[in-house]
Amino acid sequence: MSRYLTTENLTLVGILLGGVFGYVFPQLAVDLKILGDIFIALLKMLIMPLVFAAVFVAVVGLGSVERLKRMGAMTIGFYLLSTSLAVLMGMTVMQLIDPGSSAPAPEHIVEAKELVIGDLILSIFPSNLFASFASGKALPVIFFAVLFAVAMLYVTKEKRDTAKLFFEAVNDAMILIASWIVRLTPIGVFSIIAYVIAKEGVGALLELWEYALCVVLALLLHATLTLPALALFIGRFHPLHYFSQVKEAVLLAFSTASSAATIPVSMDRAEKEGGVSKKSAGFVIPLGATINMDGTALYESIAVMFIANLAGVDLSFSQQLLIFITATFTSIGVAGIPGASIVMLTMILGIIGLPLEYIGVILVVDRVLDMFRTAVNVWGDLIAAKTLDRFIDRD
Ligand code: ASP
Repeated sequence: MSRYLTTENLTLVGILLGGVFGYVFPQLAVDLKILGDIFIALLKMLIMPLVFAAVFVAVVGLGSVERLKRMGAMTIGFYLLSTSLAVLMGMTVMQLIDPGSSAPAPEHIVEAKELVIGDLILSIFPSNLFASFASGKALPVIFFAVLFAVAMLYVTKEKRDTAKLFFEAVNDAMILIASWIVRLTPIGVFSIIAYVIAKEGVGALLELWEYALCVVLALLLHATLTLPALALFIGRFHPLHYFSQVKEAVLLAFSTASSAATIPVSMDRAEKEGGVSKKSAGFVIPLGATINMDGTALYESIAVMFIANLAGVDLSFSQQLLIFITATFTSIGVAGIPGASIVMLTMILGIIGLPLEYIGVILVVDRVLDMFRTAVNVWGDLIAAKTLDRFIDRD
């Protein structure tokens, strides 16, 4: 019996029970939200020290700037490949199903945000490292950790080894705390899912079922065909076996709709169960949770095409090409928190020249679809970590 009472299975039960509970007892579900909030707070508490220590240890472990360049180029290359394939999948499924002929009227009006490339680039550089730490901005922290580690390659070996040992200890302790928090996952996800269902309801999902189907189907195809193909042909490992080892992280991403909050558990599972080296997991997972968002990019492309349908706009080839490019690249700037892609969506709509008010229509189902896309975001990072592991020297 206890063989079946694993955290993974209990998490699955938590998700299902949470859904039913939120539907039947919405008020109670709202009152119990605090359990989910505590769980997320515990995970978030680990993110910054873990990201800093993990990236530092990984880069010092690579041992030379040459290797770091190679690893960095391979990581970014793999991310761009998988994200652009995700967008292609989204656009293809959208062409085939083509939802949006009978649409509900828009409810909320959303303000456009302009895409300022300069701001995006500037967000990488921390003008105040502690401010970045305090506000949970991972990208500038990663930037500093890489720089710090590179500088450490040039100090005496004795000092470098001391620093490495210290941050290795920090990294290991954070991962250990993460594995304790993981045990609370079933209760945490129960509360989160119950609250989401109580608040959002399922009615909107039924009304927009064709659109929701497109998103979920395309995400599923990417997760079960494209990513496994990359795992098999580039990473040379068995994706199904790997999934069974790391699925806790994917379930957690699904429940929390936050790639960032999932980082500690992704690293814990990838290293302890999935056999991914510290160097690869420490570098690829924090970076991936921040900039590699296959599910989000796919979702954005479908949302934009759906809004074009709602507005009765026939997209030209060049507009479709623009959607492909903007969805791939803006997903890099999306934060790993719930609902973050909506801001980027307003940017893309502005660039393509589509009306913004239709975002109100898709907002009603956004949280539920966010769960699916975040699960794919994290699954993509986990596949990347194991794939790139093949190309670096193991400890
Ligand atoms: N919730 C997503 C994530 O954390 C981002 C988004 O698409 O809104 O990965």
